[in-house]
Amino acid sequence: MLDTLLHEFAHHLDVHLFDWPDTPHTRGFYWRVDALYHLALTTPAEKRKPLVWIKSGTRWRIDLTKLR
Ligand SMILES: [Zn+2]
Repeated sequence: MLDTLLHEFAHHLDVHLFDWPDTPHTRGFYWRVDALYHLALTTPAEKRKPLVWIKSGTRWRIDLTKLR
């Protein structure tokens, strides 16, 4: 549930804080969601796992097996 809330909040920030006309699901977008997630949970820096990306055709996706 926190992931979903932060995902939607990141869309909100893209539009209302950065004044972007569109808010696509780029790797930067997911980086911002991940940063908000760890900020919300106060995860110590040494315990954070970096996002691992897998190229799938022309798109990238997060390797969820490498996260939590
Ligand atoms: Zn979205």
